[in-house]
Amino acid sequence: MNLETIYQRSPAVVQNLLCSLYGLRLNRRRYSPAYLRLEAEVVARDQWPAAQLAEFCTKRLQTMVMHAATTTPYYRRLFADLGLDPSGIRTAADLQALPILEKQTVQRNLGEFHSEAAESMGCSTVHTSGTTGTGLIFPMTLAAEQEQWAVWWRYRQRFGIDRTTWYAHFYGKSVVPLHQDKPPFWRINQPGRQIFFSGYHMTDRNLPAYIEELNRRQPPWIQGYPSLLALLASFMLNGKCQLAYRPRVLTIGAESLLPHQKQVIEQAFGAPCRQHYGMTEAVANISECPEGRLHIDEDFGLVELIPDGDNSAKIIATGYTNLAFPLLRYDTGDVAELESPGIRCPCGRAGRLIKSIDGRVEDYVVTPDGRRIGRMDHVFKDMVNILESQVFQETPGAVVFRVVKGDWYTQQDEELLLHEARKRLGDEIRITVDYVAELERSSRGKLRFVISRIKNAHISS
Ligand SMILES: [Zn+2]
Repeated sequence: MNLETIYQRSPAVVQNLLCSLYGLRLNRRRYSPAYLRLEAEVVARDQWPAAQLAEFCTKRLQTMVMHAATTTPYYRRLFADLGLDPSGIRTAADLQALPILEKQTVQRNLGEFHSEAAESMGCSTVHTSGTTGTGLIFPMTLAAEQEQWAVWWRYRQRFGIDRTTWYAHFYGKSVVPLHQDKPPFWRINQPGRQIFFSGYHMTDRNLPAYIEELNRRQPPWIQGYPSLLALLASFMLNGKCQLAYRPRVLTIGAESLLPHQKQVIEQAFGAPCRQHYGMTEAVANISECPEGRLHIDEDFGLVELIPDGDNSAKIIATGYTNLAFPLLRYDTGDVAELESPGIRCPCGRAGRLIKSIDGRVEDYVVTPDGRRIGRMDHVFKDMVNILESQVFQETPGAVVFRVVKGDWYTQQDEELLLHEARKRLGDEIRITVDYVAELERSSRGKLRFVISRIKNAHISS
């Protein structure tokens, strides 16, 4: 029996204990004395003048390019094929001699991106489900992992939050067994100051219990997917249940925050809703400042904005931190709307400004018992043999997973896919897998991960 099966079969009190043990382990790994030194450096860089920041970033870029070219088979071959000397790449402009790197190229040549120096660096293995189910599994150095956390905490500190602040977390982890139909629909990670609220039990019948628990614990900070927070906010605005306190701030991640979501969340919770953009691949980070503007975290990775018509641009990025798995000019698949030239933020931070990010926007999957499930890409987290995928739904009784298979796809992958989908959607719904050569795209060529024909499943309505 694996740990997850033990967890799912344990009573809530044991599950709370396991969540806390997990939190303790994560804290010990992430927040070592080395981390505290790093965090202080990262926070100090937020106030650096533009010239000092630019000099620092140029050095980081040169280090990463040399490292990629000398320690990974993929880049060694690429530089040889292009007849390029990596030491000649000294600036962001020089980097354009390299082609843009597509996610599928990484997926197809995964092992070739591993740095030969990684073994001595103390790495962990990380997983990404990608925007459309294009999963990657790769090594990440502890230093890179810690710098990513430091950049995220820097952003939170701007809003008066630190690692001692209790928070309610609404996201896609299966912390509460799906068959459970009575509260508590939350679990506690004591060392992480975290109340995990299940994203899979948020029906009209259960939501009053969620709000009661928020009122009882009054966490000053609420974090989650905008799709889940908007669901809770709309429920409150419909007058069904009210929050009895004002949180300090709400923060969102993983999905794009749509204007109407921001509006309902801020209205219902009576607090500002802030956003940041980042990804497991750790190539780019963009965070909101107290003036409400999005700044590129220039010290974390080189973000190139490649014009894509209509004042929008593709986000292409080169991470500075993960020496175990270098990605140069990586196409994140996300699009940014550019800020008008000449606009400067009164906060004085040096990072370039972005108006908005058009990243993940997904419809919900609706189950026969009325649950609305967002972030279905979690189902694909370890599915490296799937090239692309999409979820299609016409009625609450059935859902279709459209899959473009990779070369190594087997029956076992299908079983894993069905198992993970069942875990989130329950036993009532009919699940089928449809193998296709390519997926349906929008008129602008953007791939929607969930396509729903059900009326109340649309996130933008
Ligand atoms: Zn600012």
